[in-house]
Amino acid sequence: MSMPYKFTFDLSKVSRFFFTEIARIGYQKGLHKKAGRTAQKMIKQFKLQEATGLNVSDAVLLLQDLIELQARNLLEREKFVQTRKRALFLPHCSRKYMDSRCKAIFDSNIPSYICAHCSPDCSVNRAVSVAEKKGYDVYILPGGSCVPKILKTRQYEGVVGVACGEEIRISGETLKELGVAGQAVPLIKNGCANTAFNVETLLKTL
Ligand code: SF4
Ligand code: SF4
Repeated sequence: MSMPYKFTFDLSKVSRFFFTEIARIGYQKGLHKKAGRTAQKMIKQFKLQEATGLNVSDAVLLLQDLIELQARNLLEREKFVQTRKRALFLPHCSRKYMDSRCKAIFDSNIPSYICAHCSPDCSVNRAVSVAEKKGYDVYILPGGSCVPKILKTRQYEGVVGVACGEEIRISGETLKELGVAGQAVPLIKNGCANTAFNVETLLKTL
């Protein structure tokens, strides 16, 4: 996977079919040799540069990471569905508010924010409610460094993580070391504040 992104992106206005296409390509075996060319083609097909303002090389990097993430999810999926004790890690940057309007309380002992469900249209709120109903322990993390801390004190068999590409890559390595089955949901808008993920994709993953 890539170095941390030096650019910001927002895929929230890109056609939904774009993500179907990423899932399809991620499913194909031996895609690595062709990944660069496929990415170029998709950038044209979905007018990605017009929709995001990214230059070609940044768009290619982003796309290759998304495809690779999808392929890894598929490889891990079978192991993941057999797990019982699961956690969901959400990024604090996807909260509707990042100031005092967010009523979540930060518990530094875990460490995690505890959502107070103040805003029905907050993606984090929705994710917390659904995941808890499904039996997940949910964490809203101020940073990726909390992941190993939590995983070392509480033993989970399966983890679903929402984050940007870089955080997913680092946490993915931690999961691997600990033998935990992981599923990742990428941010479709990065930037460390007011970020976004696709809630439907997450719900399907859980
Ligand atoms: S719903 Fe939860 S996470 Fe979202 S802004 Fe309110 S307290 Fe914060
Ligand atoms: S964009 Fe990535 S690095 Fe920044 S706060 Fe969100 S998850 Fe963390």
